[in-house]
Amino acid sequence: MTNSQERPAQTSDPFAISDEQFRSICSDADTLLRELFPVPRSITGDGVRATLSRLQRVTSFSVGEIPSGTVCYDWTVPDEWHVRSAFIRDLQGNTIVDFADNNVHLVGYSVPTDRIMSFDELKPHLHTIPEMPDAIPYRTSYYAKDWGFCLSHSEFQRMDRSGRYQVRIDADLQPGSLTYGESLLPGESTREILISTYCCHPSLANDNLSGIILWTLLLRYLKQIPLRHSYRFVIVPETIGAIAYLAANAEAMKLIRCGFVVTTVGGPGSFGYKKTFLGTHELDLLVELAFREQELEFVSYPFSVNGSDERQYSSPYFRIPVGTICKDKYYEYKEYHTSLDNLDFISAENLCRTLRLYLRAIGNLERNLTFRSLHPWCEPMLGKRGLIANSGGAFLPERLGGQRTREIIGWLLFHADGKTPLLEISRQTKIPLNDLYDVALALQKGKLLQRIEESP
Ligand code: ZN
Repeated sequence: MTNSQERPAQTSDPFAISDEQFRSICSDADTLLRELFPVPRSITGDGVRATLSRLQRVTSFSVGEIPSGTVCYDWTVPDEWHVRSAFIRDLQGNTIVDFADNNVHLVGYSVPTDRIMSFDELKPHLHTIPEMPDAIPYRTSYYAKDWGFCLSHSEFQRMDRSGRYQVRIDADLQPGSLTYGESLLPGESTREILISTYCCHPSLANDNLSGIILWTLLLRYLKQIPLRHSYRFVIVPETIGAIAYLAANAEAMKLIRCGFVVTTVGGPGSFGYKKTFLGTHELDLLVELAFREQELEFVSYPFSVNGSDERQYSSPYFRIPVGTICKDKYYEYKEYHTSLDNLDFISAENLCRTLRLYLRAIGNLERNLTFRSLHPWCEPMLGKRGLIANSGGAFLPERLGGQRTREIIGWLLFHADGKTPLLEISRQTKIPLNDLYDVALALQKGKLLQRIEESP
């Protein structure tokens, strides 16, 4: 797949990335992918701290710590996990698996171990995928105190069944804290949009280093644009981090309008969109419009409780409609949660193509305004207001041409009942949302339309 189908960016639209910006953002994404891929992340520990600290050099956001033992609704923040080394060797000193070679080898949150064991004793602690013999599976055991190693099935088959093995996990599980990041971008309105991602997976590229990097680049990009909504960027370990963040910010989170969980955004396969639990929320319609505007095919996934942190954000108390735009959605590609989800599988360019879609969708959300006519009695006279498009009308966007602009003015004035958002006018008339938006702002300056302010 190439990006040749995507519409060229219009420079007047701050949510459209120019080709030059695209190349520069891709280069930044590529650097971050390479630097951050090897970092051993988990739901707590220095891997997450190192990752967030590197991202803070790309754009500023604050980092917080929630102590181990903090009760968050039905959950408790666990002890912090640190691994110094972990390996399996045969008694001749040959290494079978080593955490230093690939951090996916160790089951996440493995407790410390130092033993000599027979193959049969060791076997229940080994995880492989027989149908993918070259892939190392990704496994965790956060809450059941256990240990284990993951290895390729071909390595496993080479192990001597009658041999004895030295198993060593030099790790600590001690009270510490859970690390997270956040940034609130203030907009014209205090109504917030949530942009959340998770930072707890070790060396796995699409799930979810790609999401972490897109989250950061999106935050940096939106900081330079005047925004209508406020945006709350949250980066947390999946599940426990989202729950802890919700518990610590419950009242603010309850007021959030809608949002995204950014995950699996850089694969070579299909674009996808996992809908909010409402399915036809404004966000769903605006994302679908973003795909249509870019003339991109995508797979539409209904909401499901299997997935990521949307199930915390959308739980009955919070009920935030949350969607996910992805490229090779989690569960859907065979490399998912294996060592084959690596830097050969994803690319910075694919990640940035998905970033372009997030920006298009956010642009649509920012521009889906509702207007009422200040002159609803029959047709207002446009000429005396300097609004005839082809006679040097002071405010009208020149790019649309006179005839087209007159047609858009007609539809905007017709629908200006104070109840019909631009998205609905676009749906009915097939006029692009951005064109409606540009002309509506001109009519607002010409004192024919008034924007309906949303309640905070
Ligand atoms: Zn995952």
